[in-house]
Amino acid sequence: MTIRAQILLLILFLLAVVAVLVATAQRIPVPEIGRAYVVRVELPEADAPPTLPKVEGGEGLPLVVIDAGHGGHDPGAVGQGYREKNVVLDLARALRDELEKQGGVRVALTRDDDRYLVHAERVDVARKLDADLFLSIHADSAGDAADVTGASTYTLSNKASSEAAARFADRENASDRLNGVDIGGQSDVVSTILVELSQRRTQERSDEFARLILREGEGAIRFHPQPRRSAALKVLRAPDVPSVLFESGFISNEADAERLASPEGRARFAEVVARAIRIYFARHQES
Ligand SMILES: [Zn+2]
Repeated sequence: MTIRAQILLLILFLLAVVAVLVATAQRIPVPEIGRAYVVRVELPEADAPPTLPKVEGGEGLPLVVIDAGHGGHDPGAVGQGYREKNVVLDLARALRDELEKQGGVRVALTRDDDRYLVHAERVDVARKLDADLFLSIHADSAGDAADVTGASTYTLSNKASSEAAARFADRENASDRLNGVDIGGQSDVVSTILVELSQRRTQERSDEFARLILREGEGAIRFHPQPRRSAALKVLRAPDVPSVLFESGFISNEADAERLASPEGRARFAEVVARAIRIYFARHQES
């Protein structure tokens, strides 16, 4: 038999074996064959589409939008068995309840449950509702430095503020209005200047609100030794809504964590910040 004939016979034999296996519906006993694999990629949960939250309070009253940081798949800082996203949601609710109880203002929360919103959505809620004031509530962690304590207020840094103004002027279209000024139909240069003016006024008011929180909180809230800060925080970039981010304390510190998570600590926070909000609105009622 030639080599060719031998190879042909071998191939025919193998084909016959396969044919018998298929005909008798046998599985070929090789572990990897005949198994189906599914590759599953876990995408971040697409939380509910952004809808505007309910506004509490009588029409015509000034509106404050309160933003509990993080949420959903983003726990924020973690410490002492607490997660920032839960601690700050409870603080936001306590502040809303306090403001509602006192009346005279309208209140809305960017989130009233455990959902995640990107920074731009939080800013959007404030702008779309035409809010007069925006407060984002956070809690910090100093990791192993468990002795770091105290609350701080943040406003947008000047550099970040003018960069945001430039971007905003680029992005917004002709129908836009800022602080009652129509920037539509203006040249790019003019609209950039108008946005910058609006942003500067917003910055001044943001600073004023931050100072009011510190003043009203004196003796009631434990503040960080440097409680007045500014940073390039995306959530503070609304060019026409005065915005402050309140770091309520360090949940990596036992005393701070317990203060923030206790009903008494929450009540004290709500009382102080509600007073600062009311004073702010009283000053700016006419404008
Ligand atoms: Zn945070």
